[in-house]
Amino acid sequence: MRVLVVEDEPDLASALATGLRREGYAVDLVGEGGVAIDKLAVSEYDLVCLDLNLPDMDGLQVCRFIRSGGATGDEEPRVLMLTARDGLDDRVAGLDDGADDYLVKPFAFPELLARVRALGRRGSAATGAVIEVGRLSLDAARRTAAYGGATLDLTAKEFALLRYFMLHGGEVLSAERLLEHVWDEHADPFTNTVRVTVSNLRRKLRLAGATDAIETVVGAGYRLVEMP
Ligand code: CA
Repeated sequence: MRVLVVEDEPDLASALATGLRREGYAVDLVGEGGVAIDKLAVSEYDLVCLDLNLPDMDGLQVCRFIRSGGATGDEEPRVLMLTARDGLDDRVAGLDDGADDYLVKPFAFPELLARVRALGRRGSAATGAVIEVGRLSLDAARRTAAYGGATLDLTAKEFALLRYFMLHGGEVLSAERLLEHVWDEHADPFTNTVRVTVSNLRRKLRLAGATDAIETVVGAGYRLVEMP
């Protein structure tokens, strides 16, 4: 899942980015609303963590840009509003302008993480924290994945990749699409990072007994095959 963090307080911004990356999210970080809008216009995000008080504009303007269809991608990103204002009026304004959820500063990081997970599930095929495809299961809250009874020992990126495959089971996913949703903007599209991570994930799946779980569709991408 790719997240855009829009936050101008440097300490909070870097703490959010570091914490989310550690959980396997692909995170881009900006400190201004104008820059956020530029990014949303060109890159597909699944979620935007949006500070309401930005130096150049009101965060609600970014939210309105998204809800008016300005963000690129087939699905509009969800919006988690972050604000120091705790007035009821702001909350109502934020939700009226299309925020999906709301968090009042200061907040504990686990609280943010819980909201991010909940928003990540919304609109996807998975309804609970645990996603299952055939004998594969993945628990986003516990950050564990298993095939049959065998636990998969995955890096954060492999975990994020497997989760994306499982949420789009049966679909052919191009390397570009995987790069867009599982990696952040620092990923070089001309490297073989997707191929290498897919290959490592395959190896670990194979060790757990899931041979050929991820199929290569020549010229198109990869597909998670439902294992019997
Ligand atoms: Ca701020």
